[in-house]
Amino acid sequence: MDEFELIGRYFSRSADSPLVVAGVGDDGAVLRPAAGRDLVTVIDTMVAGTHFPETMRADDIGYRAVAINLSDIAAMGAEPRWMTLALTLVDAEPGWLEAFAAGLYEAAAEWGVALVGGDTTKGDQLVISVQMEGDLEPGTAIYRSGAKRGDTIFVTGTLGDAAAGLGRFPAEAADDYLVRRFARPTARIRVGRALAGIAHSAIDVSDGLAGDLCKILDASGAGAELDLQHLPLSQELMAAVGREQALQFAMRGGDDYELCFTLPEAELPAAIANEVTAIGRVTAESGLVCRDGEKVVDFNNAGYRHF
Ligand code: ADP
Ligand code: MG
Repeated sequence: MDEFELIGRYFSRSADSPLVVAGVGDDGAVLRPAAGRDLVTVIDTMVAGTHFPETMRADDIGYRAVAINLSDIAAMGAEPRWMTLALTLVDAEPGWLEAFAAGLYEAAAEWGVALVGGDTTKGDQLVISVQMEGDLEPGTAIYRSGAKRGDTIFVTGTLGDAAAGLGRFPAEAADDYLVRRFARPTARIRVGRALAGIAHSAIDVSDGLAGDLCKILDASGAGAELDLQHLPLSQELMAAVGREQALQFAMRGGDDYELCFTLPEAELPAAIANEVTAIGRVTAESGLVCRDGEKVVDFNNAGYRHF
């Protein structure tokens, strides 16, 4: 199968969107952004064996490549619109490509994102790069740098599941909750959209909460106190590894793709109140202090090993 045939067969579904004038098939895609909105662009690359296990299901690989970009779009507060796909394949195996495309289009369809182009190459290693564009009302993007002393710190979902799920490869069970949390991150677009123009700061948690929250704190010139007893940990994670390890996974694990954001508690939009958990407060003194009851726990030693 040559490149032309491969693209035609797997990556040429019609975009069917007023925001796409011309999609896959020409030298470039022609996009029609809504007038007067700011564009947000993100890109994320996944290398087989580094960012996901080689044995992961092809549909999950496709889904995840889109979901991790949706997560960046969500963290900026934007509405996802278009994406392109740069695919380096070791070999073009039809069954694999079909499943990969199915997962990719599934994630894209959940948020109405159009695949409008890409590039396909052969190489020694499977590498998937997705670039995504979104848009939002001018001036409403959420940055890492806006956290203010007194803000409450919130997160979506539960933390630490994906790190535990990753540890279950290559003998993972197909329906294992923790494995699903790694393979198919939930894009928090709805929460991000509700926070656009409202949250003081936001980031998506992809490298463990401790490190990612510190990026907000560094960018904002602030510090924070976290109450570890309020960290949202799933029952599945607690049952699998116990509280101590669950906290380690949440704080220093990776790949959760949940949102962490700050704002004055009274300004939390009611529409997302049920989807987020307050876990701490922004302080004026730099540094992250994590309290577990009377104890102070240090999560600053040695980063997460990306296997
Ligand atoms: P060119 O040689 O002009 O770069 P290509 O032959 O690489 O064009 O690609 C032909 C068309 O297919 C282009 O519209 C390109 O965006 C699209 N395309 C190539 N690879 C992919 C892919 N993996 N997914 C989606 N579209 C792709
Ligand atoms: Mg060309």
